[in-house]
Order: sequence, then C-alpha cells, then structure tokens
Amino acid sequence: MRELRVAIGEDGKPNDDEHLNRRLRALKDQGWLFSSYKSREGQNVEDYILDAKGARTWLGEKVAKRDAVSAKTRREVFERDGNRCVICGRGAGEPYDEDQPEVTARLTIGHRVAGARLADASADNLRTECARCNEPVNDSPPDPETYRAVMAEVRRLPSAERRRLLEWIDAGWRLPTKTDQIWDRVRRLAVSEKKHVAEELRNGLT
Ligand SMILES: [Zn+2]
Repeated sequence: MRELRVAIGEDGKPNDDEHLNRRLRALKDQGWLFSSYKSREGQNVEDYILDAKGARTWLGEKVAKRDAVSAKTRREVFERDGNRCVICGRGAGEPYDEDQPEVTARLTIGHRVAGARLADASADNLRTECARCNEPVNDSPPDPETYRAVMAEVRRLPSAERRRLLEWIDAGWRLPTKTDQIWDRVRRLAVSEKKHVAEELRNGLT
C-alpha cells in the first residue's frame, strides 16, 4: 500500500483514499488485477497482491481483450519456433525435471509485449512458451527490449559466444550447447562420481 501511494505520488498525504481508489480502479480497467485482504483470507490489510499484469499504457499498449489466437496462427508460431518454448527450450511433453518425469511441458502462445491484443498481434509479436514460463509471475521484463540495448550486449560477447548466438537465431531456439549435453550426463552420475568430475575440473584435468 505504501509503495502504491509513493508510485501514485501521494506519499505524505496518506488520507486521500478517494484518489488512491480511483487510480486502483483505473488500473483494474487496464487489466491489472490486485487482490486485497477483502478477497483473500488472512492477507495483511496493508498488502496488495499482484495477480495479473495488464496493459502498460505508459508504453502506448492498448488494453488487452481476451481474444484467442486462431488455430492457424498458433500452428505457424509453433512451427517457426521449432515447437519449443523460446524461454526454456523445452518441447511439448518434455519433463522439467528428470526426477519428476510426469510433470511435462505444455506449449502455449505468449506475446512479446505484455497486454498486446493477442488476436490482433502478428506472428512477429507472438512466441511459443511453455505453460510454466507463460505464468504471470514469469512475465516479460518490465519493458520491451530495444535493438540498441540488445546490440550493445551482443557486442560485448566473446567471439565463440557470438557464433553460438548466431546458431540459436538461425535455428529459432536455444540449441543445447556441448556443455549442456555433458551436464545432462554428469547429472546422471553417482554423487561420488560427480565429486570426482568436479575435482578433476578444479585440478585443471591434468
Ligand atoms: Zn518454458
């Protein structure tokens, strides 16, 4: 509550509840969903919980309508992304954790710009995400990426990493690196064997 007041610019005049409530209602109309102690049992009176992020109107986003993506666009997006979650790289039916093989990834459509109207969005604005990466808490970073900011980071990459990035872009998803593949095998070793591998690495593999 205190953070909300500061954000709204009301810090220091805590009794102007009408203004605060008006702002909260406006956010709700834009798809931002909070729950207060009134809707959740046991919640602190001063706490609001963010249930869903809405349109970031300060970035010019339009208020989202709950429209579904057409089956055709869905197929196109899945195919373009190689039928893999672009965030974690898992394909449909692949487990998140070897120890829980029954918990598997289900592919869904996410959008690059949160709050963009899904049905209107071009395939360029949509991407394949697994249901877990698509959860609201794992939402996209606060603001959409810009070409300049990304390129500044790309320029800092060592050349081997640049080549790998190019491979991922060409493939359309994050290809497992040789190290990823070996890690997957190392994980299957016995604890004592894993320790031996770690020791060998520490000693520079003499
Ligand atoms: Zn994922």
